[in-house]
Amino acid sequence: MKYVFLILFINLLPQYAGKSLRRDDRYPKTFEDIKNEIAGYTDIAKAIIDLAVHGKAQNRSYERLAVFADTIGPRLSGSKNLDAAIKYMFSALQEDELENVHLEPVKVPHWERGEEFAMMLEPRNHSIAILGLGSSVATPPEGITAEVIVVASFDELHKRAQEAKGKIVVYNEPFISYGETVRYRSQGAVEAAKVGAVASLIRSIASFSIHSPHTGWQNYQPDVPQIPTACISVEDAEMMSRMSFRGTKIVVHLKMGAKTYPDSPSFNTVAEIVGSKYPEQIVLVSGHLDSWDVGQGAMDDGGGAFISWEALSLIKDLGLRPKRTLRLVLWTAEEQGGIGAKQYYQLHKENISNFDIVMESDEGTFQPSGLGFTGNAKARDIVKEIMTLLQPINVTDVYDNADGTDIDYWMRDGVPGASLHDDLSKYFWFHHSQGDTMTVQDPNQMNLCAAVWTVVSYVIADMEEMLPR
Ligand SMILES: [Zn+2]
Repeated sequence: MKYVFLILFINLLPQYAGKSLRRDDRYPKTFEDIKNEIAGYTDIAKAIIDLAVHGKAQNRSYERLAVFADTIGPRLSGSKNLDAAIKYMFSALQEDELENVHLEPVKVPHWERGEEFAMMLEPRNHSIAILGLGSSVATPPEGITAEVIVVASFDELHKRAQEAKGKIVVYNEPFISYGETVRYRSQGAVEAAKVGAVASLIRSIASFSIHSPHTGWQNYQPDVPQIPTACISVEDAEMMSRMSFRGTKIVVHLKMGAKTYPDSPSFNTVAEIVGSKYPEQIVLVSGHLDSWDVGQGAMDDGGGAFISWEALSLIKDLGLRPKRTLRLVLWTAEEQGGIGAKQYYQLHKENISNFDIVMESDEGTFQPSGLGFTGNAKARDIVKEIMTLLQPINVTDVYDNADGTDIDYWMRDGVPGASLHDDLSKYFWFHHSQGDTMTVQDPNQMNLCAAVWTVVSYVIADMEEMLPR
Protein backbone atom coordinates (compact mmCIF):
# COMPACT_ATOMS: atom_id res chain seq x y z
CA MET A 1 0.00 0.00 0.00
CA LYS A 2 2.78 2.39 0.74
CA TYR A 3 3.48 2.75 -2.97
CA VAL A 4 0.07 4.06 -3.92
CA PHE A 5 0.67 7.62 -2.86
CA LEU A 6 4.13 7.64 -4.33
CA ILE A 7 2.85 6.37 -7.66
CA LEU A 8 0.08 8.93 -7.92
CA PHE A 9 2.73 11.54 -7.48
CA ILE A 10 5.51 10.20 -9.66
CA ASN A 11 3.15 9.12 -12.41
CA LEU A 12 2.71 12.77 -13.27
CA LEU A 13 6.38 13.50 -13.62
CA PRO A 14 7.33 11.92 -16.94
CA GLN A 15 4.17 13.14 -18.64
CA TYR A 16 4.80 16.63 -17.45
CA ALA A 17 8.43 16.38 -18.43
CA GLY A 18 7.46 15.05 -21.86
CA LYS A 19 5.11 17.93 -22.55
CA SER A 20 7.45 20.63 -21.38
CA LEU A 21 10.27 19.23 -23.47
CA ARG A 22 8.28 18.97 -26.61
CA ARG A 23 8.60 22.66 -27.43
CA ASP A 24 7.66 22.27 -31.04
CA ASP A 25 7.05 19.12 -33.04
CA ARG A 26 9.03 20.47 -35.96
CA TYR A 27 12.24 20.36 -33.94
CA PRO A 28 13.59 16.98 -32.90
CA LYS A 29 14.57 16.55 -29.30
CA THR A 30 18.18 17.15 -28.43
CA PHE A 31 20.03 14.48 -26.45
CA GLU A 32 19.89 16.88 -23.50
CA ASP A 33 16.08 16.80 -23.73
CA ILE A 34 16.12 13.02 -23.80
CA LYS A 35 18.45 12.90 -20.79
CA ASN A 36 16.05 15.08 -18.87
CA GLU A 37 13.12 12.93 -19.91
CA ILE A 38 14.95 9.83 -18.65
CA ALA A 39 15.95 11.55 -15.40
CA GLY A 40 12.21 12.05 -14.87
CA TYR A 41 11.95 8.29 -14.31
CA THR A 42 14.33 8.25 -11.33
CA ASP A 43 11.56 7.83 -8.76
CA ILE A 44 9.72 5.18 -10.77
CA ALA A 45 12.96 3.24 -11.18
CA LYS A 46 13.53 3.45 -7.42
CA ALA A 47 9.99 2.26 -6.77
CA ILE A 48 10.50 -0.72 -9.11
CA ILE A 49 13.81 -1.61 -7.48
CA ASP A 50 12.35 -1.26 -3.97
CA LEU A 51 9.41 -3.48 -4.79
CA ALA A 52 11.49 -6.14 -6.58
CA VAL A 53 14.53 -6.26 -4.32
CA HIS A 54 13.36 -5.18 -0.85
CA GLY A 55 9.57 -4.97 -0.94
CA LYS A 56 6.55 -7.25 -1.18
CA ALA A 57 7.65 -8.75 -4.50
CA GLN A 58 11.04 -9.79 -3.13
CA ASN A 59 11.88 -13.37 -4.20
CA ARG A 60 8.59 -13.70 -6.08
CA SER A 61 10.08 -14.66 -9.46
CA TYR A 62 12.24 -17.29 -7.73
CA GLU A 63 9.33 -18.70 -5.76
CA ARG A 64 7.04 -18.78 -8.79
CA LEU A 65 9.76 -20.52 -10.79
CA ALA A 66 10.37 -23.06 -8.01
CA VAL A 67 6.70 -24.11 -7.94
CA PHE A 68 6.62 -24.27 -11.74
CA ALA A 69 9.90 -26.18 -12.15
CA ASP A 70 9.16 -28.61 -9.30
CA THR A 71 5.63 -29.23 -10.57
CA ILE A 72 6.24 -29.52 -14.32
CA GLY A 73 9.90 -30.57 -14.58
CA PRO A 74 11.83 -30.45 -17.86
CA ARG A 75 9.94 -29.33 -20.97
CA LEU A 76 11.23 -30.78 -24.20
CA SER A 77 9.70 -29.65 -27.48
CA GLY A 78 6.82 -31.96 -28.39
CA SER A 79 6.53 -33.41 -24.87
CA LYS A 80 3.52 -33.66 -22.55
CA ASN A 81 5.53 -31.68 -20.01
CA LEU A 82 5.81 -28.73 -22.39
CA ASP A 83 2.05 -28.86 -23.02
CA ALA A 84 1.50 -28.86 -19.26
CA ALA A 85 3.91 -25.94 -18.85
CA ILE A 86 2.04 -23.86 -21.43
CA LYS A 87 -1.32 -24.62 -19.79
CA TYR A 88 0.16 -23.77 -16.40
CA MET A 89 1.48 -20.43 -17.61
CA PHE A 90 -1.71 -19.56 -19.45
CA SER A 91 -3.64 -19.94 -16.17
CA ALA A 92 -0.96 -18.25 -14.08
CA LEU A 93 -0.85 -15.17 -16.32
CA GLN A 94 -4.65 -14.92 -16.24
CA GLU A 95 -4.67 -15.26 -12.46
CA ASP A 96 -2.09 -12.50 -12.38
CA GLU A 97 -4.70 -10.34 -14.14
CA LEU A 98 -2.49 -9.52 -17.09
CA GLU A 99 -4.19 -8.47 -20.31
CA ASN A 100 -4.70 -10.26 -23.65
CA VAL A 101 -3.40 -13.53 -22.27
CA HIS A 102 -3.45 -15.90 -25.23
CA LEU A 103 -1.65 -18.71 -27.03
CA GLU A 104 -0.32 -18.53 -30.60
CA PRO A 105 -0.09 -21.94 -32.31
CA VAL A 106 3.22 -23.32 -33.61
CA LYS A 107 4.18 -26.77 -34.97
CA VAL A 108 7.29 -27.95 -33.17
CA PRO A 109 9.75 -30.85 -33.53
CA HIS A 110 9.05 -33.93 -31.47
CA TRP A 111 12.12 -36.03 -30.74
CA GLU A 112 12.50 -38.42 -27.83
CA ARG A 113 15.74 -39.95 -26.66
CA GLY A 114 14.27 -43.25 -25.51
CA GLU A 115 16.55 -45.65 -23.64
CA GLU A 116 20.24 -45.14 -24.13
CA PHE A 117 23.48 -46.35 -22.66
CA ALA A 118 27.14 -46.75 -23.50
CA MET A 119 29.64 -49.22 -22.11
CA MET A 120 33.36 -49.34 -22.65
CA LEU A 121 34.31 -52.99 -23.26
CA GLU A 122 38.04 -52.60 -23.89
CA PRO A 123 40.50 -51.99 -22.29
CA ARG A 124 38.16 -52.48 -19.33
CA ASN A 125 34.46 -52.44 -18.55
CA HIS A 126 33.34 -48.92 -17.72
CA SER A 127 29.89 -47.38 -17.88
CA ILE A 128 29.99 -44.17 -19.94
CA ALA A 129 27.45 -41.49 -19.03
CA ILE A 130 25.78 -40.28 -22.25
CA LEU A 131 22.96 -38.04 -23.38
CA GLY A 132 21.82 -38.46 -26.96
CA LEU A 133 21.83 -35.22 -28.93
CA GLY A 134 18.54 -33.74 -30.12
CA SER A 135 17.48 -35.15 -33.53
CA SER A 136 19.93 -38.08 -33.30
CA VAL A 137 18.86 -41.34 -34.91
CA ALA A 138 18.81 -44.56 -32.90
CA THR A 139 21.36 -47.34 -33.12
CA PRO A 140 20.11 -50.67 -34.45
CA PRO A 141 18.17 -52.46 -31.65
CA GLU A 142 21.18 -54.60 -30.79
CA GLY A 143 23.36 -51.48 -30.51
CA ILE A 144 26.71 -50.70 -32.10
CA THR A 145 29.96 -52.20 -30.89
CA ALA A 146 33.01 -50.61 -32.46
CA GLU A 147 36.54 -49.48 -31.89
CA VAL A 148 37.03 -45.85 -30.94
CA ILE A 149 39.14 -43.18 -32.60
CA VAL A 150 39.75 -40.13 -30.42
CA VAL A 151 40.37 -36.75 -32.06
CA ALA A 152 40.82 -33.29 -30.57
CA SER A 153 39.52 -31.35 -33.58
CA PHE A 154 37.88 -31.59 -36.99
CA ASP A 155 41.34 -30.98 -38.48
CA GLU A 156 42.70 -34.05 -36.76
CA LEU A 157 39.67 -36.05 -37.90
CA HIS A 158 40.26 -35.02 -41.50
CA LYS A 159 43.98 -35.86 -41.30
CA ARG A 160 43.19 -39.30 -39.87
CA ALA A 161 40.15 -39.88 -42.08
CA GLN A 162 41.45 -43.30 -43.24
CA GLU A 163 41.49 -44.58 -39.65
CA ALA A 164 37.93 -43.48 -38.87
CA LYS A 165 36.04 -45.82 -41.18
CA GLY A 166 33.78 -48.19 -39.26
CA LYS A 167 34.73 -46.66 -35.92
CA ILE A 168 33.07 -44.55 -33.25
CA VAL A 169 34.57 -41.07 -33.35
CA VAL A 170 35.15 -39.60 -29.88
CA TYR A 171 35.73 -35.85 -29.95
CA ASN A 172 37.84 -34.55 -27.08
CA GLU A 173 37.80 -30.92 -28.19
CA PRO A 174 38.93 -28.39 -25.56
CA PHE A 175 36.27 -25.96 -24.31
CA ILE A 176 37.17 -22.51 -25.58
CA SER A 177 33.81 -20.80 -25.46
CA TYR A 178 30.28 -22.03 -26.05
CA GLY A 179 30.00 -20.06 -29.29
CA GLU A 180 33.25 -21.46 -30.63
CA THR A 181 33.12 -25.00 -29.31
CA VAL A 182 29.45 -25.82 -29.89
CA ARG A 183 30.14 -26.70 -33.55
CA TYR A 184 31.52 -30.04 -32.33
CA ARG A 185 28.08 -30.80 -30.94
CA SER A 186 26.09 -29.46 -33.89
CA GLN A 187 28.31 -30.85 -36.71
CA GLY A 188 30.24 -33.67 -35.03
CA ALA A 189 28.03 -36.46 -36.37
CA VAL A 190 28.07 -35.11 -39.93
CA GLU A 191 31.85 -34.75 -40.00
CA ALA A 192 32.31 -38.23 -38.52
CA ALA A 193 29.85 -39.78 -40.99
CA LYS A 194 31.65 -38.12 -43.91
CA VAL A 195 34.75 -40.18 -43.10
CA GLY A 196 32.77 -43.39 -42.64
CA ALA A 197 32.35 -43.50 -38.86
CA VAL A 198 29.41 -45.46 -37.42
CA ALA A 199 28.65 -43.16 -34.47
CA SER A 200 30.05 -40.11 -32.72
CA LEU A 201 30.48 -39.28 -29.04
CA ILE A 202 31.14 -35.66 -28.26
CA ARG A 203 32.83 -34.25 -25.20
CA SER A 204 30.14 -32.11 -23.58
CA ILE A 205 30.27 -28.39 -24.30
CA ALA A 206 30.88 -27.53 -20.65
CA SER A 207 33.37 -25.40 -18.77
CA PHE A 208 33.30 -27.67 -15.72
CA SER A 209 32.16 -31.20 -15.12
CA ILE A 210 31.35 -33.65 -12.39
CA HIS A 211 30.87 -36.53 -14.83
CA SER A 212 27.88 -34.80 -16.39
CA PRO A 213 26.88 -35.12 -20.03
CA HIS A 214 25.36 -31.94 -21.52
CA THR A 215 22.91 -32.42 -24.38
CA GLY A 216 21.76 -30.04 -27.10
CA TRP A 217 20.59 -29.86 -30.69
CA GLN A 218 22.64 -31.25 -33.58
CA ASN A 219 22.16 -31.09 -37.33
CA TYR A 220 22.32 -33.71 -40.03
CA GLN A 221 23.07 -32.79 -43.63
CA PRO A 222 20.96 -34.00 -46.56
CA ASP A 223 23.64 -35.99 -48.42
CA VAL A 224 25.51 -37.36 -45.42
CA PRO A 225 24.52 -40.65 -43.73
CA GLN A 226 22.78 -40.12 -40.38
CA ILE A 227 24.75 -41.78 -37.59
CA PRO A 228 23.79 -41.94 -33.89
CA THR A 229 25.39 -39.21 -31.79
CA ALA A 230 25.55 -38.45 -28.08
CA CYS A 231 27.54 -36.34 -25.70
CA ILE A 232 29.75 -37.79 -23.00
CA SER A 233 31.34 -36.31 -19.89
CA VAL A 234 34.54 -34.28 -20.05
CA GLU A 235 36.12 -36.91 -17.78
CA ASP A 236 35.37 -39.85 -20.09
CA ALA A 237 36.47 -37.91 -23.18
CA GLU A 238 39.77 -37.06 -21.52
CA MET A 239 40.29 -40.60 -20.26
CA MET A 240 39.71 -42.12 -23.70
CA SER A 241 42.06 -39.50 -25.15
CA ARG A 242 44.80 -40.51 -22.68
CA MET A 243 44.23 -44.18 -23.41
CA SER A 244 44.42 -43.72 -27.14
CA PHE A 245 47.54 -41.57 -26.80
CA ARG A 246 49.20 -44.54 -25.09
CA GLY A 247 48.19 -46.72 -28.02
CA THR A 248 45.55 -48.62 -26.02
CA LYS A 249 42.72 -50.10 -28.09
CA ILE A 250 39.29 -48.85 -26.97
CA VAL A 251 36.04 -50.61 -27.82
CA VAL A 252 32.64 -49.15 -26.92
CA HIS A 253 29.16 -50.60 -27.07
CA LEU A 254 26.52 -47.90 -27.74
CA LYS A 255 22.77 -48.34 -27.65
CA MET A 256 20.31 -45.53 -28.34
CA GLY A 257 16.55 -45.72 -28.80
CA ALA A 258 16.02 -42.16 -30.05
CA LYS A 259 13.01 -41.50 -32.25
CA THR A 260 11.71 -38.54 -34.24
CA TYR A 261 7.91 -38.23 -34.40
CA PRO A 262 5.82 -35.95 -36.64
CA ASP A 263 5.81 -32.29 -35.58
CA SER A 264 3.53 -31.55 -32.62
CA PRO A 265 1.14 -28.67 -31.96
CA SER A 266 2.52 -26.18 -29.45
CA PHE A 267 2.17 -22.51 -28.59
CA ASN A 268 3.96 -19.28 -27.86
CA THR A 269 2.40 -17.89 -24.67
CA VAL A 270 1.59 -14.17 -24.69
CA ALA A 271 0.37 -11.61 -22.12
CA GLU A 272 0.33 -7.84 -22.12
CA ILE A 273 -0.07 -4.59 -20.31
CA VAL A 274 -1.76 -2.57 -23.02
CA GLY A 275 -0.25 0.85 -23.69
CA SER A 276 -2.19 3.96 -22.67
CA LYS A 277 -1.20 6.21 -25.56
CA TYR A 278 0.39 4.11 -28.32
CA PRO A 279 -1.16 0.68 -27.71
CA GLU A 280 -0.15 -0.54 -31.18
CA GLN A 281 3.53 0.00 -30.38
CA ILE A 282 5.28 -2.90 -28.68
CA VAL A 283 8.07 -3.37 -26.17
CA LEU A 284 8.62 -7.12 -26.10
CA VAL A 285 10.13 -8.96 -23.12
CA SER A 286 10.75 -12.66 -23.37
CA GLY A 287 12.32 -15.95 -22.40
CA HIS A 288 11.70 -19.48 -23.65
CA LEU A 289 9.41 -21.89 -21.86
CA ASP A 290 10.74 -25.09 -23.39
CA SER A 291 13.93 -26.76 -22.16
CA TRP A 292 15.91 -29.94 -22.64
CA ASP A 293 14.52 -33.15 -21.19
CA VAL A 294 16.97 -33.30 -18.28
CA GLY A 295 17.15 -31.43 -14.98
CA GLN A 296 14.36 -28.89 -14.50
CA GLY A 297 15.15 -26.25 -17.12
CA ALA A 298 15.28 -23.82 -14.21
CA MET A 299 18.29 -21.91 -15.47
CA ASP A 300 17.72 -22.43 -19.21
CA ASP A 301 15.43 -20.73 -19.49
CA GLY A 302 13.05 -20.79 -16.54
CA GLY A 303 14.87 -17.82 -15.01
CA GLY A 304 14.61 -15.71 -18.16
CA ALA A 305 10.94 -16.57 -18.68
CA PHE A 306 10.05 -15.81 -15.06
CA ILE A 307 11.87 -12.47 -14.75
CA SER A 308 10.08 -11.46 -17.96
CA TRP A 309 6.73 -12.34 -16.38
CA GLU A 310 7.89 -10.55 -13.23
CA ALA A 311 8.46 -7.35 -15.22
CA LEU A 312 4.77 -7.17 -16.10
CA SER A 313 3.72 -8.14 -12.56
CA LEU A 314 5.86 -5.42 -10.97
CA ILE A 315 4.55 -2.74 -13.31
CA LYS A 316 0.98 -3.83 -12.66
CA ASP A 317 1.56 -3.93 -8.88
CA LEU A 318 2.84 -0.36 -8.96
CA GLY A 319 -0.29 0.76 -10.78
CA LEU A 320 1.76 1.85 -13.77
CA ARG A 321 0.64 1.71 -17.37
CA PRO A 322 3.26 2.70 -19.96
CA LYS A 323 2.35 4.59 -23.12
CA ARG A 324 3.28 1.62 -25.29
CA THR A 325 2.14 -1.98 -24.90
CA LEU A 326 4.45 -4.15 -22.86
CA ARG A 327 4.20 -7.63 -24.30
CA LEU A 328 5.46 -10.81 -22.63
CA VAL A 329 6.24 -13.69 -24.99
CA LEU A 330 7.25 -17.10 -23.65
CA TRP A 331 8.69 -18.86 -26.68
CA THR A 332 8.22 -22.51 -27.49
CA ALA A 333 10.85 -24.84 -29.01
CA GLU A 334 13.80 -22.46 -28.73
CA GLU A 335 16.14 -25.39 -28.12
CA GLN A 336 15.21 -26.91 -31.48
CA GLY A 337 16.46 -23.78 -33.25
CA GLY A 338 14.05 -21.00 -32.29
CA ILE A 339 11.01 -22.61 -33.91
CA GLY A 340 8.39 -20.67 -31.93
CA ALA A 341 10.21 -17.39 -32.44
CA LYS A 342 10.44 -17.93 -36.19
CA GLN A 343 6.71 -18.55 -36.41
CA TYR A 344 6.04 -15.46 -34.29
CA TYR A 345 8.24 -13.32 -36.51
CA GLN A 346 6.53 -14.51 -39.67
CA LEU A 347 3.12 -13.82 -38.16
CA HIS A 348 3.94 -10.35 -36.83
CA LYS A 349 6.66 -8.94 -39.08
CA GLU A 350 4.17 -6.86 -41.06
CA ASN A 351 3.94 -4.72 -37.89
CA ILE A 352 7.71 -4.42 -37.58
CA SER A 353 7.66 -0.62 -37.60
CA ASN A 354 5.66 -0.78 -34.35
CA PHE A 355 8.22 -2.93 -32.53
CA ASP A 356 10.18 -0.50 -30.37
CA ILE A 357 12.60 -3.03 -28.84
CA VAL A 358 12.77 -6.82 -28.50
CA MET A 359 14.26 -8.16 -25.27
CA GLU A 360 15.19 -11.70 -24.33
CA SER A 361 16.85 -13.14 -21.23
CA ASP A 362 18.29 -16.54 -22.17
CA GLU A 363 21.76 -16.60 -20.67
CA GLY A 364 21.02 -17.13 -17.03
CA THR A 365 19.65 -14.95 -14.26
CA PHE A 366 22.76 -14.81 -12.11
CA GLN A 367 24.32 -11.60 -10.70
CA PRO A 368 23.44 -9.03 -13.39
CA SER A 369 25.96 -6.49 -14.64
CA GLY A 370 23.93 -4.72 -17.32
CA LEU A 371 22.43 -5.11 -20.71
CA GLY A 372 23.63 -6.43 -24.06
CA PHE A 373 22.30 -4.07 -26.68
CA THR A 374 21.97 -4.15 -30.46
CA GLY A 375 21.00 -0.92 -32.19
CA ASN A 376 22.41 2.23 -33.67
CA ALA A 377 24.63 4.71 -31.82
CA LYS A 378 21.80 7.09 -30.93
CA ALA A 379 19.66 4.30 -29.52
CA ARG A 380 22.67 2.99 -27.59
CA ASP A 381 23.24 6.41 -26.01
CA ILE A 382 19.61 6.47 -24.90
CA VAL A 383 19.85 2.96 -23.44
CA LYS A 384 23.06 3.91 -21.62
CA GLU A 385 21.21 6.84 -20.11
CA ILE A 386 18.32 4.59 -19.06
CA MET A 387 20.80 2.26 -17.37
CA THR A 388 21.91 5.10 -15.08
CA LEU A 389 18.50 4.65 -13.41
CA LEU A 390 19.85 1.34 -12.12
CA GLN A 391 22.65 2.94 -10.13
CA PRO A 392 20.91 2.07 -6.83
CA ILE A 393 21.71 -1.60 -7.54
CA ASN A 394 24.91 -0.85 -9.47
CA VAL A 395 23.85 -2.57 -12.70
CA THR A 396 24.56 0.08 -15.30
CA ASP A 397 26.77 -1.37 -18.05
CA VAL A 398 25.78 -1.58 -21.70
CA TYR A 399 27.64 -4.19 -23.75
CA ASP A 400 27.90 -4.65 -27.47
CA ASN A 401 25.22 -6.79 -29.00
CA ALA A 402 22.18 -8.38 -27.52
CA ASP A 403 22.13 -12.15 -27.59
CA GLY A 404 19.04 -14.28 -28.03
CA THR A 405 18.00 -16.84 -30.63
CA ASP A 406 14.39 -15.77 -30.31
CA ILE A 407 14.88 -12.06 -30.94
CA ASP A 408 17.44 -12.47 -33.73
CA TYR A 409 14.92 -12.28 -36.56
CA TRP A 410 13.83 -8.82 -35.45
CA MET A 411 17.32 -7.49 -34.77
CA ARG A 412 18.48 -8.61 -38.23
CA ASP A 413 15.72 -6.40 -39.62
CA GLY A 414 16.93 -3.41 -37.61
CA VAL A 415 14.71 -3.52 -34.52
CA PRO A 416 16.78 -2.61 -31.43
CA GLY A 417 17.35 -5.60 -29.15
CA ALA A 418 18.45 -6.16 -25.57
CA SER A 419 19.52 -9.16 -23.53
CA LEU A 420 20.29 -9.48 -19.85
CA HIS A 421 24.02 -9.46 -19.14
CA ASP A 422 24.91 -11.47 -16.05
CA ASP A 423 27.70 -13.48 -14.47
CA LEU A 424 28.12 -16.45 -16.80
CA SER A 425 31.04 -18.02 -14.94
CA LYS A 426 28.96 -21.02 -13.83
CA TYR A 427 26.37 -21.08 -16.61
CA PHE A 428 28.05 -23.83 -18.65
CA TRP A 429 28.57 -25.97 -15.57
CA PHE A 430 24.84 -26.72 -15.63
CA HIS A 431 23.69 -25.92 -19.18
CA HIS A 432 21.56 -28.68 -20.84
CA SER A 433 22.43 -31.16 -18.10
CA GLN A 434 20.73 -32.93 -15.18
CA GLY A 435 22.31 -30.19 -13.08
CA ASP A 436 20.02 -27.45 -14.43
CA THR A 437 17.71 -27.34 -11.41
CA MET A 438 16.32 -24.80 -8.94
CA THR A 439 19.40 -25.38 -6.82
CA VAL A 440 21.34 -23.28 -9.36
CA GLN A 441 19.00 -20.31 -9.01
CA ASP A 442 19.44 -17.61 -6.40
CA PRO A 443 16.44 -15.56 -5.26
CA ASN A 444 18.40 -12.38 -4.63
CA GLN A 445 20.07 -12.51 -8.02
CA MET A 446 16.70 -13.07 -9.66
CA ASN A 447 15.32 -10.02 -7.82
CA LEU A 448 18.11 -7.89 -9.26
CA CYS A 449 17.62 -9.32 -12.76
CA ALA A 450 13.89 -8.64 -12.54
CA ALA A 451 14.54 -5.06 -11.45
CA VAL A 452 16.85 -4.44 -14.42
CA TRP A 453 14.43 -6.04 -16.85
CA THR A 454 11.49 -4.06 -15.50
CA VAL A 455 13.11 -0.63 -15.36
CA VAL A 456 14.48 -0.94 -18.89
CA SER A 457 11.30 -2.27 -20.45
CA TYR A 458 9.05 0.16 -18.61
CA VAL A 459 11.05 3.29 -19.41
CA ILE A 460 11.44 2.39 -23.09
CA ALA A 461 7.71 1.61 -23.27
CA ASP A 462 6.82 4.91 -21.65
CA MET A 463 9.17 7.41 -23.28
CA GLU A 464 7.52 9.81 -25.67
CA GLU A 465 9.41 8.53 -28.69
CA MET A 466 10.42 5.08 -29.88
CA LEU A 467 14.13 4.23 -29.95
CA PRO A 468 15.76 5.44 -33.17
CA ARG A 469 16.75 2.71 -35.63
ZN1 LIG B 1 18.02 -21.21 -23.59
